This record gives sequence, structure tokens and C-alpha cells, in this order.
Amino acid sequence: MDLLSKRILNISTSVTLAMAAKARELRAEGKDIIGLSLGEPDFKTPEYIKDAAIQAINDNYSSYAPVDGYIELKDAIVTKFKRDNGLTFNHNQIVVSTGAKQSLANLAAVLINKGDEVIIPCPYWVSYVDLVKLNDGVPVEVPTTIATDFKMTPEQLEAAITPKTKMLWYSSPCNPSGSVYSKEELRALADVLQKYPRIIVVSDEIYEHINFTGGHASMAQFEDMYDRVITVNGVSKAFAMTGWRIGYIGGPEKIARACNKMQGQITSGANSIAQRAVITALNESPTRVQFMIDEFKIRRDLVLDLLRDIEGFKTNIPEGAFYVFPNVSYYFGKTLRGKTINNASDFSLYLLEEALVATVDGDAFGNPNCIRLSYAASQEQIIEAMARIATAIR
Ligand code: PMP
Ligand code: GLU
Repeated sequence: MDLLSKRILNISTSVTLAMAAKARELRAEGKDIIGLSLGEPDFKTPEYIKDAAIQAINDNYSSYAPVDGYIELKDAIVTKFKRDNGLTFNHNQIVVSTGAKQSLANLAAVLINKGDEVIIPCPYWVSYVDLVKLNDGVPVEVPTTIATDFKMTPEQLEAAITPKTKMLWYSSPCNPSGSVYSKEELRALADVLQKYPRIIVVSDEIYEHINFTGGHASMAQFEDMYDRVITVNGVSKAFAMTGWRIGYIGGPEKIARACNKMQGQITSGANSIAQRAVITALNESPTRVQFMIDEFKIRRDLVLDLLRDIEGFKTNIPEGAFYVFPNVSYYFGKTLRGKTINNASDFSLYLLEEALVATVDGDAFGNPNCIRLSYAASQEQIIEAMARIATAIR
């Protein structure tokens, strides 16, 4: 009998986290690595949020929190959904989890049966496909290119639907392409889904605030979709709180209750102190974190400017999140400093070894021609990283 389950053997290691670990290891060996691999803001958590956590410690929030979240946090989430997204939820439709990653893992576990197909537009965030596989589902990847700004068209969606389709699962703003679906584009996808009322939608909106178009649209805003969309969000990105581990969903009550039941068996409620801090994070106006969004936009423009001068990097114009996802296939088959580059993985490794810049190979995001660079780094680091890359590939 095998020691490990087929379930775990069937999935891959999270490449984003693996690359971050590799960069950490090289730094410990004394190498001056610039990390553009991990999707993690380089800002510190704002003081007003930290103060709320300190207050919670002093107020002795040290017991188990309710499995699906403190009532005051649910209040804050209900208010946030109404204020920012025009969505109305009651408490029973909200579940707070240990990061949006757990929210997504819960959803996969409570919704997918063996053989169910999940449509995932490519490029996608690394964990989607593995969470589907972990639950014996079948990921149906829909490839997109720069030509459509890495967005899935309604025609592609329709062509991917089969009698086994259970879900559509995407992020907007998208990790890794930075693409943002407009309200009209979401409506066009919803029009297709109208013909297939049993298909559930998981809309991952964790980059909602990091959006340079000036407007965020949610699939659940369409009245005819509301009953079958689960909106996933969290505080990791816009509030610079990756390590605090709080994410949440708003969606149909039956699904929320199932997530609550799942969570009650595997983790219990999310960290009590972090939950109290997030009440403050969400109750305050999002304008308090606008300075970080403004800085991300400056960095986005900087990266695009610098990339324009580097041969063989083709990219879309990311309108949100903090990634660029250039197509680097120009280098495939070429030899640089005696090393043959056959694919994006070779190229990403080459940049790590020769430029000391950590990126992530696009394969993990479902696009083997691209690499992902996170610009959640300082302008100085970005300038230095681009200069090193330019030198390494000259
Ligand atoms: N969704 C997307 C698209 C992400 O990039 C991430 C990255 N962390 C997550 C979900 C999970 O976020 P967290 O678990 O930190 O809330
Ligand atoms: N979401 C981030 C990323 O894509 C963090 C790493 C992870 O959670 O996988 O890099």
C-alpha cells in the first residue's frame, strides 16, 4: 500500500510558494536575489489596522472564534459588499476563512463531485486547477492570448460547456495577467450562462481594489446571476495583510452553510485577532489604502516602460492586480550564455541564475509561453531587476 494518498500525489506543489522558498534559500546563501515571484505587497499593514489587532489582544480575544466568523466581522463584510459592490447579503450568506485560499478550497470541496468539469480561463491563478483535481474534478482550461487581453470570450465559454460542466471559475482583476473584465464583458459571459442555469460561478475578486480602470464589476451584480455566484474576496492584497490570513465569501446560503460545515471539521474559525483587525480594515473607507493602489499604478507603468526596451518580451497592458505576464517565447530554442532555453521554465530559471531575479514560469498559470513578474516591489528594485534582466539576455 502506498504511503501517500492518490489525492496528494495527483496535485502539484504551489509554484508561487515554491519559487518564493527558493528565493529565500538563495538569499540565505548570500545571493542578492530580487524577488518578483511572490504576489505579496511590499507595504506594511497600515497602523490603524495593527492598532485594532493590538486592542483585540488586550481585550482578550483569545478564545475560539465562531467557525464562520465573528458577527461584527460579518456585519463589516455585509456593509462592504453593499458599499463597494452593490451586493446585498445576510449573515448566513457570509463565511470568513483562513485566507481566500481556504475560501476557494472550501468551495471546491463542497461543490465538486468526481468527474464534474470546471471551466477555468487561462491564464489562471496556480491553485485553481489543483483544488479542482484535489476534489476529483476535471479542470477544463480555456486558453486566451494577448490578442484578447487574456480574457475569455463568450464564444469560448459556450464552446467549453458540456453536460458535465459544474462551474466557471475565474479572477478579475486576474492573477497573473492583470486583465480586468468590464461590466459589459461579464454581462456577455452571463448571457451565455443564462442558457445553462445549473452552472455555478466562482468569482475571485481578491484584487478588487487594485484596479486601474476606475471601476470594478462583479458577476453577482446581475440580478439573474446573483443566486448562483459565489464572490470570493480577502484582505491579503489591498490591505497588505498576506500573513494575517483572512478571506471571505458571499453567496447562496446553502453553499455558505456547506462551507461552514466543512471548515468546522478541518480548521474551525479563522484566527481571532486577525478577524478583529479585519473588522476595522473593512469598516474604514477603501480610500485609506488608496496610496498603495496609486503606487502600484506607478510601478505598473514603470515596468511596462522598462519592458518595452527589452527584446522579446510581449505583454498586454495589465489593468489591475500587480503582475505582468509577458510572452517570452521569442527566446525558446535560443542559447544564452551557453544555456539553451527550451521553455518558460528554462527562461525563468535562467533569470534566477544569471540575473538573480526570481519570476514564476507561466506553465503553472496555464500558459507555457509566458513568465510572471510581480511588481509588488519598490521602484528601485524594479529598475534594478529590469536592468539585470536586460544585461542577462543581451
Ligand atoms: N486568489 C488569487 C487570485 C490570489 O492571487 C491569491 C493569492 N494569495 C489568493 C486567491 C489567495 O489569497 P489569500 O489566501 O492570501 O487570501
Ligand atoms: N497569490 C500569491 C501569488 O500568486 C501568493 C502565493 C500563493 O498564495 O500561492 O503569488
